[in-house]
Amino acid sequence: MLFGRSHKNEIHLPVKPVDKWVYTTCGYCSTGCSLEVGVNAAGKAVTARGVADADVNRGKLCLKGIFEYEVFESQNRGTVPLIRKNRSDAYKKCDWDEALDKTAAEISRIQAIYGRDSFAIVSTGQIYTEEFYTLGKLVRGVIRTNNYDGNTTLCMASAVSGYKRSFGSDGPPGCYDDFEHTNCLFAIGSNLPEQHPIIYYRLQEARTRRPFPMIVVDPRVTMLAQMADIHLPITPGTDLVLLNAMAHVILKEGLQDEDYIRLHTNGFEGFKKLVDEYSPEKAEPICGIAADMIRKVARIYAEAGAAMTIWTMGINQSTHGSDGVVAINNLNLITGNIGKPGGTALSITGQCNAMGTREFSSCSGLPGYRALENETDRAFASDFWGVDARHFPEKRGLTETDIFPAIERGEIKGLWLIGTNPMTSMPNSPQIRKMLDQLECLVVQDAYADVETVQSATIYLPAALWGEKTGVFTNTERRVNLVKKVVEPPGEAKSDLWIFSHLAKRFDRAKEIQFAETASEVFDEIRDVSKGRLCDYSGMTHEKIEAARGIQWPCNTENEAGSARLYTDGHFQYPDGKAKLIALPFVENNEVPCEEYPFWLNSGRLVEHWHTRTKTGKIGNLNKFSPTPFMEMSPRTAAKMGIAAMDYVRVISRRSSAIVLVQLTERVAEDAVFIPMHYYNCVNRLVKGLLDPYSIQPAYKQSAVRIECLMDQDEAAKTAVSLRDY
Ligand code: SF4
Repeated sequence: MLFGRSHKNEIHLPVKPVDKWVYTTCGYCSTGCSLEVGVNAAGKAVTARGVADADVNRGKLCLKGIFEYEVFESQNRGTVPLIRKNRSDAYKKCDWDEALDKTAAEISRIQAIYGRDSFAIVSTGQIYTEEFYTLGKLVRGVIRTNNYDGNTTLCMASAVSGYKRSFGSDGPPGCYDDFEHTNCLFAIGSNLPEQHPIIYYRLQEARTRRPFPMIVVDPRVTMLAQMADIHLPITPGTDLVLLNAMAHVILKEGLQDEDYIRLHTNGFEGFKKLVDEYSPEKAEPICGIAADMIRKVARIYAEAGAAMTIWTMGINQSTHGSDGVVAINNLNLITGNIGKPGGTALSITGQCNAMGTREFSSCSGLPGYRALENETDRAFASDFWGVDARHFPEKRGLTETDIFPAIERGEIKGLWLIGTNPMTSMPNSPQIRKMLDQLECLVVQDAYADVETVQSATIYLPAALWGEKTGVFTNTERRVNLVKKVVEPPGEAKSDLWIFSHLAKRFDRAKEIQFAETASEVFDEIRDVSKGRLCDYSGMTHEKIEAARGIQWPCNTENEAGSARLYTDGHFQYPDGKAKLIALPFVENNEVPCEEYPFWLNSGRLVEHWHTRTKTGKIGNLNKFSPTPFMEMSPRTAAKMGIAAMDYVRVISRRSSAIVLVQLTERVAEDAVFIPMHYYNCVNRLVKGLLDPYSIQPAYKQSAVRIECLMDQDEAAKTAVSLRDY
């Protein structure tokens, strides 16, 4: 008998007959892992592996990346365009000419009757940058509605808004390599091991080599919080108070970087006056963190020499989301922690190409971080595209969160959804079906024909998926990476780029505008349009990107290998080159628990699922880990209420109710529950989604609910299943 772990069974990987390996980039989260998909002699994708010499993931993949090739064989892909006259009719199959003619005719008809902004467009963070760019040109130059947005408003709008307010431009200034240099990591509202597993691997790799303190701020004891040196279980929605109080301590104790503040910032006096009011003692009863602990973490951060902050949806999805981002930037600016190795304010982006839409989709502006509000930028885009500048609006139109209420008010009559599923992702989701059913025309462009929105549509356009076309994504650290075509799309499905450029041909207005049809031609245009901008791609080509396993912008002739960090010289994007320190008073405006609704409801991601499960819900190797909605609840609270593990309960908010299985865990406080965001007809039925005033992003994480026990568990199970699946 051998004891201990010195003897192990050998690991045998099943040998799959691979004919060729195709380089590509993962299409789920914004980490941006390079992977190779193994294709057999029959042209079928059979396996995948991480790319060892790719700096982002160094050969690793999380389980979503490992099984991503299975999407090519997933069920209910759209293979042919579908149209119908009325919602009550059955769909009929048609060819692309008929589908695109009808789409263009409906857009023109609605705009002719109700005005050009009565047709709205909501896209995604999942298509390629070349596709975003082409869509932007089509919308701004040809269709000309100003009610055009991406679903990134639901996840990254606060980060964009906060960067713009502080630094004069969007653009995350740091990179993963900062983990190798920092002396303190402050993570706020970010659960890396589940949301961005390979960024977490990079962090842990750095901490194993060179330990440094990790402070995690989160109301829940997340996986990241379990690995932290200090966990601050903050009261939901009060991050701004904690951050102001930390700045208060830093300034009171003289720990700030005076030279950096003087040389590179404006607004210090007003900022100092405001944070003077946020003593740790004043902050403690609001944010739930002891005054001494606030002092302690402020000192660790300010005295680290190089300190970095990372955040995700815990900050962004709040009524103070944009202010929270600015408060993080304030903290980094007063300690001189921007643009230096290990010193940064790095928003961890959500979707694989949320950055690409920010850079080039023209949703909130014009390509290359140009602004609709800026006359020079409008003139540039007008010349570049050959569009009369008078057709450009002088400010952005409605965001996704404003578009749905505008449908309800009857101001928007037609909608084109591209790779996004508001039926699951929008707050107060039962209202969304009613709004979609009010439209005269709903066009759904998606890889899957069974996405819930198709039930309310009159035109369905089947799109190719990740890996069925070629283009680029930009990841969290501004790294542009190549996504190569692995297999052909099924049936008649077409790339989004093909759909956009062929739809453009249906409009007379497009006659004077050139629409390139291949990704490399569009990429050449992006290189030109971005030249000299912060997001400069002019030094990149698809070939260079693949060879380097991704290149970080700005990349140009002076800087051919790309740039790891922004603002290394302390020069920001405001006209005077200085960043802004902004005073941020906290105003309590959340829904908070009360006698009738006594629990905080929080939501977030699971490692095995992606967003609305349109893809991962169909992959058995992922779905098996959590096939059904569940709710984390404190064992003590459950015992008081007579609830046992795996009971079904009804969760009720002021909006609606949902039925979930109970999972008992110490991860949540006694007055809080947590439900994953991924399930249709579940947590977003309950969420109020108050909006941040700057980013117009919804607060998904601060709602109040009550919980009801269900006597008839069999009946509850049936209801849960009928609500859940489609
Ligand atoms: Fe894909 Fe993100 Fe997983 Fe990397 S960490 S394999 S990018 S899902």
